[in-house]
Amino acid sequence: MVDHNLNTRIFLTDGDFRELFGDQIYRLVGLMNAAAGKICPPCNGYCCRNINCGFYSEYFSTCPIFDRRPRECRYHFCNEVFNAAPLTKDEKDLMQQPVEELICGDRGEIARLFFLFPEFPVDEKGLISLGIGDEVAKIKAEFENGSISQDIAFARLNKLTF
Ligand code: SF4
Ligand code: SF4
Repeated sequence: MVDHNLNTRIFLTDGDFRELFGDQIYRLVGLMNAAAGKICPPCNGYCCRNINCGFYSEYFSTCPIFDRRPRECRYHFCNEVFNAAPLTKDEKDLMQQPVEELICGDRGEIARLFFLFPEFPVDEKGLISLGIGDEVAKIKAEFENGSISQDIAFARLNKLTF
């Protein structure tokens, strides 16, 4: 049984994502993540920067909220990653279907709700609507001017996702 509170939750754990998308997609996304781990680092956050993520800083070594990143991040891979991941043709076809088609039965309602959130939820506008825009910007500025370490910045940013 799906926890319907997950429908509107922005920040997801691995377990939340698995519950929302099911075991098969969770496993395939895990394979994509493994491929991304080898391909993404030289990009230095190309996707995060281009989607205007409020949590992104070019000076962070990685995503500061990796374990609680939104579903949009968890389900995003460029073609290069997609092609490199060791998926069968059927698995790739499955990954390419719209989220709506992936989800059936009890999960159908979740798919419909996804389209109520067509914008990236943690860009500047999204963070303001979540009421954490100023705090995220303040923590990043403190890190970037050397006042706090990356560990402290990550801990404080993660606290804002609960
Ligand atoms: S998903 Fe692709 S474009 Fe985005 S950071 Fe990774 S390799 Fe770069
Ligand atoms: S929350 Fe998503 S877009 Fe933002 S830094 Fe993390 S992975 Fe990148």
